[in-house]
Amino acid sequence: MGIGEWPRSVVVVGAGIVGLSTAWFLQERGVKVDVVDRGGVAAGASWGNAGWIAPALAIPLNEPSVLRYGLRSLLSPSAPLHVPASVDPGLWAFLARFAANCRWPSWTRAVRANLPLNEDSVGAYEVLAAGGVAAPIEQAPITAAFRTPRQAEGLLRELRRLAEAGQHVEHTVLDGDRLAEHVPLASGALRTGVRIDGQRYVDPGGFVHALGRAVMSRGATVYAFEVDDVRTDGRKAIVLSRKGTTLSADAVVLATGAWLPRLARRWGVRVPVRAGRGYSFTVPVDRPVPGPIYLPDVRVACTPYQGGLRVAGTMEFRGPDDPFVPARMEAVIGSARPLLDGVRWEERTDAWVGPRPVTPDGRPLVGATNTPGIYVAGGHGMWGLAHGPATGRLLAEQITTGKQPFELRDFDPLR
Ligand SMILES: Cc1cc2nc3c(=O)[nH]c(=O)nc-3n(C[C@H](O)[C@H](O)[C@H](O)COP(=O)(O)OP(=O)(O)OC[C@H]3O[C@@H](n4cnc5c(N)ncnc54)[C@H](O)[C@@H]3O)c2cc1C
Repeated sequence: MGIGEWPRSVVVVGAGIVGLSTAWFLQERGVKVDVVDRGGVAAGASWGNAGWIAPALAIPLNEPSVLRYGLRSLLSPSAPLHVPASVDPGLWAFLARFAANCRWPSWTRAVRANLPLNEDSVGAYEVLAAGGVAAPIEQAPITAAFRTPRQAEGLLRELRRLAEAGQHVEHTVLDGDRLAEHVPLASGALRTGVRIDGQRYVDPGGFVHALGRAVMSRGATVYAFEVDDVRTDGRKAIVLSRKGTTLSADAVVLATGAWLPRLARRWGVRVPVRAGRGYSFTVPVDRPVPGPIYLPDVRVACTPYQGGLRVAGTMEFRGPDDPFVPARMEAVIGSARPLLDGVRWEERTDAWVGPRPVTPDGRPLVGATNTPGIYVAGGHGMWGLAHGPATGRLLAEQITTGKQPFELRDFDPLR
């Protein structure tokens, strides 16, 4: 038997939602799994994100209107999308490729490709919960809020486009009074809402840690070291740290989020992945928060979190390990402050930055590489939390059957 054929043991590199979901579904199929992460469980984007499992809003980033934001961002450092003035040549090449994909045909292809992940997003979470992942999954509509009905038109158009591409979307337009019922924190500046039904949210760090505990209780060890290299010797796949620690198995899954290219490039994965960094923090609030709040005009997402509100936003193209930039978080606060009342902004805690793993074409990279026994799973951009468990389920099927599920065809890492 050669490497990668019917693997009975797998090492997963990356203990975010994608790596741990893959580990869990591999275990479900009887595979012995170990996991490695340089920072432990949920050390990357999977911790401080907005926690939305929102299939009706999983809009790929490469929307034509993003180009308009991109141009504005070159002029204003407080714009919701930010490209710093000094950019490395790799980032320019990435942005050029991304811009070329900001067209309706490419966007529609990304929407269609992501449909199976959307359809299974809630279901796959429920499978994890029923299988012992002890963390709550909350059901609540997400309410988008706008200053004017005209501004709401932009989102309604996007939702119509999603529906035309096959995505099930259930929404209701709310006038000012009904908006205030749904979003007690709405300030007088917000006059129109769109309620999107049938969505879920989680405490993402809490969920991913519970998933990590479940994977360990089913026999995995989670090792804490940075993988420096991956090799094969024809029989086994081997991961190595710089200090010489090695782990070997019948197959390896690289699920290293925004860091994916470093280990995946040499296995034929040429599609770049760059960090679209987002910021979040938690604030106490003086009014109830019945469900997530979306402020599309300033691209801010708010989620009920540990009795307060987690506020998340901005998209900044920098290195995944670059330092936290306080001005970016201030920009999020400055844009959301006039829109919400009863938020104690000055008492914020948990300030965090994390790298969304963004691909230029709005499609993740999931599947086999050019070498038997080496797989990748990453590049889910804005929606990796929602799509992680569904991805893990499909990739575990591919690894254990040797057949690419049709749902993964458009995510081929060698495209
Ligand atoms: C502000 C913000 C809000 C968001 N909101 C949402 C949302 O509401 N819903 C949603 O679906 N998505 C959301 N996202 C996106 C989501 O967070 C990501 O798509 C998702 O977490 C990616 O998961 P991952 O497992 O691929 O990567 P990560 O969680 O980043 O995990 C990768 C792991 O690999 C490890 N690693 C990297 N290199 C190595 C190495 N060489 N050796 C060992 N370990 C390594 C890292 O330490 C890390 O733990 C948001 C993101 C941000 C930033």
